[in-house]
Amino acid sequence: MPSGKTHLRIELLLLPVWVALFYLFVDTSWQAGALFAGAYLFSSLLLSPDLDLRYNRSRRRWGLLGFIWIPYTKVFKHRGVSHSLLFGTLTRLGYLGLLALIIAFVLSYFNIWAIPSDALSAPPIDLKFLGILIAGLWLPNVIHTVTDHVHSALLRH
Ligand SMILES: [Zn+2]
Repeated sequence: MPSGKTHLRIELLLLPVWVALFYLFVDTSWQAGALFAGAYLFSSLLLSPDLDLRYNRSRRRWGLLGFIWIPYTKVFKHRGVSHSLLFGTLTRLGYLGLLALIIAFVLSYFNIWAIPSDALSAPPIDLKFLGILIAGLWLPNVIHTVTDHVHSALLRH
């Protein structure tokens, strides 16, 4: 498989292309563009599908918090669901959400922090905002998986 460095390089090289397409076909406001690019960078740097490996650059970028991905490497075998085009990103976002939930419950159990009682009745999230966010987070992971497949296919020939 291509190295983490190669993956990141390809993803970052394509970013201007996506931003241009985004500007032309989705939204011309700089706020929407910044949201998209921010989510894309976050995903490229910190949510790589290779977090299913014990050692990877993405995990190293988490610094001291890198250990939180250890259970993820145990659950997801390399290039399994973690590399799925549809569900890969979802496994990592769901995993982070689950961790946040566990931390919130532990904090509230020990009366350190209370989960706001109106947490479940939060204002509805803007669908466009959510769509842009998901696209930005998802796209680098798709590129990663496609790159992995192309690389494997080339090696086979
Ligand atoms: Zn990979």
